[in-house]
Amino acid sequence: MSENQPNPPAIEPEHIAISRSSGVKIDWRDGHHSHYELQYLRDRCPCATCSGAHGTPPSPASPFALYKPALKIETVEPVGNYAIRIKWNDGHSSGIYSHEHFRLICPCEECKPGGTRAV
Ligand SMILES: [Zn+2]
Ligand SMILES: [Zn+2]
Repeated sequence: MSENQPNPPAIEPEHIAISRSSGVKIDWRDGHHSHYELQYLRDRCPCATCSGAHGTPPSPASPFALYKPALKIETVEPVGNYAIRIKWNDGHSSGIYSHEHFRLICPCEECKPGGTRAV
């Protein structure tokens, strides 16, 4: 009994290019290209602490904000074949960025809410 459900194609990156100081670029299999600034990614860290899941409000800016060195990626490690874990130079490393998350937060004109192109 197959319902006529739309079955979205798997969204997979064709290539991920990570620059520790300038951001992440992803070429997607469907021909889409995304470029994420470091700060943009850091602000969208999907971990429970940053996203406020579990009822914890996102922590306010640190009191040392004035001292903050330029944001950088320290290390990146693959998680399975569906995500990467980013360790930031501010010591934070619990964010696991799935491919799906990357695609959801794609900052390009086409993807952002209210963008010009409707799907
Ligand atoms: Zn986080
Ligand atoms: Zn996009």
